[in-house]
Amino acid sequence: MLTVGVVAVQGDFAKHVALLKKLNVSTREVRLPKDLEGLDAIIMPGGESTTFRHLFDLYGLAEPIAALASSGVPIWGTCAGMIMMASELEDHRPEPLGLMDVTVSRNAYGRQVDSFVIDINFPILGAEPFHTVFIRAPAATRIGPDVQVLGSLPDGTPVALRQGNLLVTSFHPELTRDTRFHQYFLSLIEQSTPANSP
Ligand code: GLN
Repeated sequence: MLTVGVVAVQGDFAKHVALLKKLNVSTREVRLPKDLEGLDAIIMPGGESTTFRHLFDLYGLAEPIAALASSGVPIWGTCAGMIMMASELEDHRPEPLGLMDVTVSRNAYGRQVDSFVIDINFPILGAEPFHTVFIRAPAATRIGPDVQVLGSLPDGTPVALRQGNLLVTSFHPELTRDTRFHQYFLSLIEQSTPANSP
């Protein structure tokens, strides 16, 4: 049985947990480094990235998560989680974890009132468009050569990116009933090396 860890120090982790339960996946809320032991994959949810950074430093989560990322464990960051996974930010804070070779701009679409929803086609999910929810979302402003664009807004802004075992989305798939993005993430586990197994 697979166990997916959802970072639960802050943000909308409960929505990810609920959606994974619908897919019959066992989940574990991650608050301390010991919660990372033996996980098959990790999700970093939306929330507030400066608060994430503060709590990651307080609980010592940054280094063990970075180590799991480089050992091949699939990691998915949604919204603030995407900001945390970036190698570089346009903003002067927070300090990101530097997992994926992208530069990210926070709050790229404006303020809270500028949050929006839009249907986007993602070839990896099949023909049916996915209803994407953007809440004070980040945007990728530079994409490294090994990073694959999985889908973009009509103006060409990429909103879902993959680099090997790493996935980021600037929107919130956990706020819909559509489980396809979570299923896609779970499929990365099969492709990953079993580096985190005991
Ligand atoms: N604007 C938030 C940040 O900069 C992210 C918002 C979200 O996760 N929905 O951290």
